[in-house]
Amino acid sequence: MKFIPSALLLLFAASFFSVWLLDRRRRHLVLFSLAFLSVSAGTVVQLALWPSDIGLNSLACAVLYTAGPLFLAEGVLSRSGKRMPLLEHAAWMALMVGLLGYFYYVVDNLQIRACALNLGMAGIVLSAAWKLRHLTRGSTIDKAMLWLLSGLSLTFVVRTLLTGGSVPTSDIAAFFESPFWLWAQFAMSVLGVAMGLGLLVVVCADVVLGLKSERDSDLLTSLLNRRGLEARAVEVLSGAVRNPLSVVACDIDRFKSINDRFGHAAGDVVLSTVAGVIREQVRAKDLVARIGGEEFVILLRDCSTDDAYMLTEQLRAAIASCELAGLPAGFKVTCSFGIVECRAGEDLWDAIGRADKMLYAAKHAGRNRTLAEGARLPRAA
Ligand code: GH3
Ligand code: MG
Ligand code: MG
Repeated sequence: MKFIPSALLLLFAASFFSVWLLDRRRRHLVLFSLAFLSVSAGTVVQLALWPSDIGLNSLACAVLYTAGPLFLAEGVLSRSGKRMPLLEHAAWMALMVGLLGYFYYVVDNLQIRACALNLGMAGIVLSAAWKLRHLTRGSTIDKAMLWLLSGLSLTFVVRTLLTGGSVPTSDIAAFFESPFWLWAQFAMSVLGVAMGLGLLVVVCADVVLGLKSERDSDLLTSLLNRRGLEARAVEVLSGAVRNPLSVVACDIDRFKSINDRFGHAAGDVVLSTVAGVIREQVRAKDLVARIGGEEFVILLRDCSTDDAYMLTEQLRAAIASCELAGLPAGFKVTCSFGIVECRAGEDLWDAIGRADKMLYAAKHAGRNRTLAEGARLPRAA
């Protein structure tokens, strides 16, 4: 019976490890697994009183119970592309082992040892939550994880405050009978399961969102693909009722000859370079998609045809002047553009079809130019 919390924690360790085996890019899953494994091992060591020497047992518990939140902290930071400095890990570990050693070998006080361990665990988790405070502006799942961490550290503190006084100061046998220990065991099971399930939800959401984003984006350029454009355009098109929305069709000029002269790999470099320049030149609120081999579509929000023409001309100049890695120095690539303003209630692909007609007119007119339907500005190359 008394090993139930340890078994539950071990189960979560195995679950995170299994998910990691399926997707080894997610390093934080191994760290989550190690966090649960360490705390599970800590409970076993403490309950089995191994090693039987109380001092050594306290130190072993200190190492394992500290390693748990340290792995958890490293895991949540790693999920956000951050790391905890090795020195900080070492400092926490030295502090906890030092405190537990001191309060056994110098001043034997079980109550202070229990409090130090809990407050230390709270401190480690809280410091990770603090380092991730920018996630308060992140996605719902980011916020949920931050709440999970804050909640966990708070329970360590509350647990210590509420029951600290009921811990026998040195009698280890009485300690295992104390309300503190019973509450600690109960909390370990409930908290372990809550934390494990909470983290599993975060991991599942990450995996689903990651797959969704891979499904909607183009592998080579990381721009939206056709499907992604359709999905994201719904919201953009609804805004077109109130504000103008310009649709820009773009096609790289004589791209086939680049492939033929320099090879397919060089062609791919041109595609990703052009995609990067487009993304750089348009505003964050605009949508950019690669809808075919060397064809791109840009949806410019709140943008009249005249404004779209000016923006596109800047983009055309930026592409024509950019350096292309792996191609002969001075080799330049150009694009042709067609622009239309989306009509109220118009289907996305109908608007793109009209922009395509302008694009092909631009190709016929000699390439490396922009043609906009009904714009008042001159349209010379
Ligand atoms: P135009 O100026 O009339 O647009 O001529 P173009 O040569 O750019 O057009 P065309 O449609 O004849 O050629 C497009 C080429 O794009 C043909 C195809 O092999 C190449 N292509 C399509 N997808 C990819 C890709 O993912 N990578 C590379 N490297 N080439 C691709
Ligand atoms: Mg082309
Ligand atoms: Mg083409």
